[in-house]
Amino acid sequence: MTRLLLIGPPGAGKGTQALRLSERLGVPAISTGDIFRENVNSGTELGVLAKSFMDRGEYVPDEVTNDLVRDRLAAADAGTGFLLDGYPRTTEQVRTLDRFLERQGHALDAVVQLTADQDETVSRLLKRARDQGRSDDTEDVIRHRLEVYAAQTAPLIDVYAARGLVISIDGLGSMDDVTERIVGALAERGISQPVA
Ligand code: AMP
Repeated sequence: MTRLLLIGPPGAGKGTQALRLSERLGVPAISTGDIFRENVNSGTELGVLAKSFMDRGEYVPDEVTNDLVRDRLAAADAGTGFLLDGYPRTTEQVRTLDRFLERQGHALDAVVQLTADQDETVSRLLKRARDQGRSDDTEDVIRHRLEVYAAQTAPLIDVYAARGLVISIDGLGSMDDVTERIVGALAERGISQPVA
């Protein structure tokens, strides 16, 4: 039973690491960004709404995002643990997640903070823009996403640090190195991969 959050600026490598950790720890990786993009691609009402915010580098409103996550966490596969990638991003989302877990009698085990300096994250995002053509990876929108992260999401690190939950990991280096750093730091806290 492992309940983790992955927090870090756009371009820190959250999505990549979330998938790898999900495999190693045997819990589903839940990315709100991926769920929104799936909805955009299949043209749902939620997708149309989400796209109008995502394309500007703004956050999708808390009410919408919180409803989505509550539903997703109530699914059977999340009952024994999860790794949330890109949620919570606002203090209101933290409150919603707290209430949800409290009602279930559960708590977070750790919050993994992935750090990376801004020059590195911007160059990674611009490379991703060339490789994948994500509509929110243009230079102006990237800059705005970094500002929104600094204003609304970075302060959440202090909230979780005050609870003793934050594990800070240097996100620079190869994907494998970063994964090993995270797995090692989690193991030190008694959070280990399941025995195969
Ligand atoms: P990501 O793939 O995590 O970079 O998310 C892409 C975009 O989806 C973000 O820039 C937001 O517009 C939206 N998004 C993802 N997660 C959240 C969230 N927790 N709260 C609000 N908006 C979100």
